[in-house]
Amino acid sequence: MASLSRALRAVASRQPLATRRCLQQRLFSGAAAPTSEKSVPYQRTLKEDSPPTQGPTKPLPKSADVVVVGGGSLGCQTLYHLAKMGLTDVVLLERDRLTSGTTWHTAGLLWQLRPSDVEVELLAHTRQVVSRDLEEETGLHTGWIQNGGLFIASNRQRLDEYKRLMSLGKAYGVESYVLSPAETKDLYPLMNVDDLYGTLYVPKDGTMDPAGTCTTLTRAATARGAQVIENCPVTGIRVHTDDFGVRRVTAVETQHGSIQTSCVVNCAGVWATSLGQMAGVKVPLVAMHHAYVVTERIDGIQNMPNVRDHDASVYLRLQGDALSVGGYESNPVFWEEVSDKFAFGLFDLDWDIFTQHIEGAINRVPVLERTGIKSTVCGPGVAIRRELSDGIVANWELSYWGSRVRISGYQRAEMHRALLSGAESFTADHKPLMGEAPEVRGFFLGCGFNSAGMMLGGGCGKELAHWIIHGYPEKDMYGYDIRRFHSSLTADRRWIRERSHESYAKNYSVVFPHDEPLAGRNRRRDPLHEELLRQGCVFQERHGWERPGWFNPQGTAPILDYDYYGAYEHKPHEDYSYNKLLGDEYTFDFPPHHEVIKKECLTCRGAAAVFDMSYFGKFYLLGPDARKAADWLFSADVSKAPGSTVYTCMLNARGGAESDLTVSSLAPENQAPQLAPVFEGDGYYLAVGGAVAQYNWSHITSVLQDQKFQCQLIDYSEELGMISIQGPASRTVLQEVLDTDLRNEAFPFSTHKLVRAAGHLVRAMRLSFVGEMGWELHIPKKACIPVYKAVMEAGAKHGIANAGYRAIDSLSIEKGYRHWHGDLRPDDSPLEAGLAFTCKLKTTTPFLGREALEKQRAAGLLKRLVCFTVDEKVPMFGLEAIWRNGQVVGHIRRADFGFAINKTIAYGYIRNPEGGPVSLEFVKSGDYALERMGVSYPAQAHVKSPFDPDNKRIKGIY
Ligand SMILES: Cc1cc2nc3c(=O)[nH]c(=O)nc-3n(C[C@H](O)[C@H](O)[C@H](O)COP(=O)(O)OP(=O)(O)OC[C@H]3O[C@@H](n4cnc5c(N)ncnc54)[C@H](O)[C@@H]3O)c2cc1C
Repeated sequence: MASLSRALRAVASRQPLATRRCLQQRLFSGAAAPTSEKSVPYQRTLKEDSPPTQGPTKPLPKSADVVVVGGGSLGCQTLYHLAKMGLTDVVLLERDRLTSGTTWHTAGLLWQLRPSDVEVELLAHTRQVVSRDLEEETGLHTGWIQNGGLFIASNRQRLDEYKRLMSLGKAYGVESYVLSPAETKDLYPLMNVDDLYGTLYVPKDGTMDPAGTCTTLTRAATARGAQVIENCPVTGIRVHTDDFGVRRVTAVETQHGSIQTSCVVNCAGVWATSLGQMAGVKVPLVAMHHAYVVTERIDGIQNMPNVRDHDASVYLRLQGDALSVGGYESNPVFWEEVSDKFAFGLFDLDWDIFTQHIEGAINRVPVLERTGIKSTVCGPGVAIRRELSDGIVANWELSYWGSRVRISGYQRAEMHRALLSGAESFTADHKPLMGEAPEVRGFFLGCGFNSAGMMLGGGCGKELAHWIIHGYPEKDMYGYDIRRFHSSLTADRRWIRERSHESYAKNYSVVFPHDEPLAGRNRRRDPLHEELLRQGCVFQERHGWERPGWFNPQGTAPILDYDYYGAYEHKPHEDYSYNKLLGDEYTFDFPPHHEVIKKECLTCRGAAAVFDMSYFGKFYLLGPDARKAADWLFSADVSKAPGSTVYTCMLNARGGAESDLTVSSLAPENQAPQLAPVFEGDGYYLAVGGAVAQYNWSHITSVLQDQKFQCQLIDYSEELGMISIQGPASRTVLQEVLDTDLRNEAFPFSTHKLVRAAGHLVRAMRLSFVGEMGWELHIPKKACIPVYKAVMEAGAKHGIANAGYRAIDSLSIEKGYRHWHGDLRPDDSPLEAGLAFTCKLKTTTPFLGREALEKQRAAGLLKRLVCFTVDEKVPMFGLEAIWRNGQVVGHIRRADFGFAINKTIAYGYIRNPEGGPVSLEFVKSGDYALERMGVSYPAQAHVKSPFDPDNKRIKGIY
């Protein structure tokens, strides 16, 4: 019998490639139990359930409201939730049998705590579905096992991260404990705790069973009227272009007939890209091998929690009386040609790659060194040899399909031992791809699950169902929404591959607040890029754009081509200054560049700073119906005279903020087309954060299509740069550069004009995102450098300096300006976020979301965004628990240090634990503390921004 340590030694000692195969054979064939098998460790898979049939398992209906393609975790969860929400004319089409893609060989782990509030909510829902709802509905057990989860910390930062998770868990009622090494040993006697800092124990984590979950989900869904048709590959998606030029789904085609439908959901796992191609939709994911091994029986392992040793990049899943061992390696194998014949398939396990995990696993649970691995993998498509005796299988299945499975039966059963390498889809940011595709209406994505599709399946299935039925998800799904990626990136294979590799390899890395990717950089550079790089700019990546993060006085930090961290025989970069700067910030303390950012902030507050915000999305909304469209789209009244600029939100139907942006009314002019395009009817210029530009574009486009407004949305983002000059000296500086009077009377706040800057036509806009007097200059690409230089030259004697987005983050939170997707999201209304002034509720003009806001206002706000300051000099980054009078009432969404007020500032929504509205009185009357990493810090709540609460500075009153 091969043992893990033998495998490790053998692979470590391998030299020439040519001898490897021979060594591998010797290693696993000369020992006690020669095997050549790959299989999953589950007692039952659906492959064995019934013999393959020719053709669909049921006749196809002629039409359906929704067709879900793919019968894995996501397809089954989506079908179930659609049916549960009342949409029952729905069909799931599966090419082979349910679960036959990735789902059948999942490890099925469910951890409840992640460094994202939305993900904690999604995971909680999955857990509720598999541990409670399905059983209540069907009387069947899904195979859920609640054996707990244990996260291992081998260094201080890691333990800090776990403490952050624990604090967040308190806001959601997720029970968790930070344990000392000795306490960990008591809980898990087989564990080596010598090198531990501590652990995070979550007793209600557990494991899902793929076959049990999917069959129970489909049984519950079909009981409500949904249909499941297996052995029915989808071969085409019919798309029709309507009279307005909009592409819409009309039917799904198979070899056995077609189904008329206006809605298709792509839950096709690694095959999602090819399914997307059938409709002309880009699905940016890559397929990779992903593996685990299953050990022989281990005495004393029964009932132990599952383990994630992040620093060793390895997990140990309890598998009855054995362990499954898997992880994330630095050199995963890409599956280049995804085969559509691959059902219940597995790959050869590449021992050279997998060895990295064994070392970590043996270090954590030393008994593994002497533990056997019984079977090995010999190639795709090999039949699974069942190791269970018929008697045991029959017994298990009997109890499974009865009203309740006996958990003890699971644990007593002899387990199937295997080495297992399967396929899974991975994405550029390690987050799924969901929502309606921007290219085709009615084509929804539910794919790209990055090795978390079991645990996220329930939460995501529910959101997807809500999205399909209501047009938007219930939660803030921006992080998973396909529209988060710019359209130029979703077809960029190199970008997808590089970023997916890095995200995979870093999956178990600590999530630090200021980290940036090294892969897929320099895709979108603005006209000032080279100039700012020369001046020490340290860039941040935001969905393809490089935007200034901060300016390093020590010199330049260019971003190099991706070196795959030395994997796949790439030569790793040496002396990579950008990478080193990132590494210096891997801390939950104040980062080493805190003082540099402080200087940028205080220069802005005391003199003037220049921010390059060229990555902004810059759109024109023009045409006969532009006014009607603007009235409907924007929560604020933008129907002002040309020359005005309005800060507004765009809402969804339940009043949630899909965006915040500025909208400037235009007069028809005939000058530079980038700055003043010719139009008929009305015209508006929209400026929106660059990271969310595609999302905004798609939102507006969908609304225009739904309402059939006759107007155009034109993207000038790449044609225009933008710099913002902010601070008390901004007027003096700009008066030297611009050919217009900048005094308050001539150029008031919230207005814009076409002017000349150093001889170049630009659009100047008096606005601020940092709480100072200042102007944005929207500049045609070619004029960016001369205008920027003229500003810097004029500002030199006033102490002007470059500043980046790290400074903007601090300055804006200090002033109390919201960040979309931080303290303002699609699940927050402007009323809850303290932005009632952006809503034209006093007018009679209808707008998207108005009815929901009116209802909310009448009923009272059930949550409210509150500003907190903390006197103690302690860094906060978001996710801290908010305590009020000894009870947790919410968590922090966004936090930073405010240098002018010299305090940590944190924003979070609070709720009344008794239920009912959160009044201003309720806010003011509490005693607050913010819990950071398990330690509480007294905090003061503010109902107005603590910095310049009367807005004097933006008006130029210093
Ligand atoms: C080794 C390994 C360990 C893992 N461990 C975990 C874990 O511990 N926890 C966790 O949460 N996740 C884990 N995962 C990930 C998880 O298993 C997946 O994310 C999840 O199963 C993906 O489900 P899916 O429905 O998106 O895809 P799939 O399960 O692949 O389902 C897609 C389905 O679409 C069907 N299909 C494709 N094309 C067509 C077509 N044209 N017509 C009809 N049908 C079609 C396929 O046959 C397939 O059944 C692991 C994955 C692997 C590989």
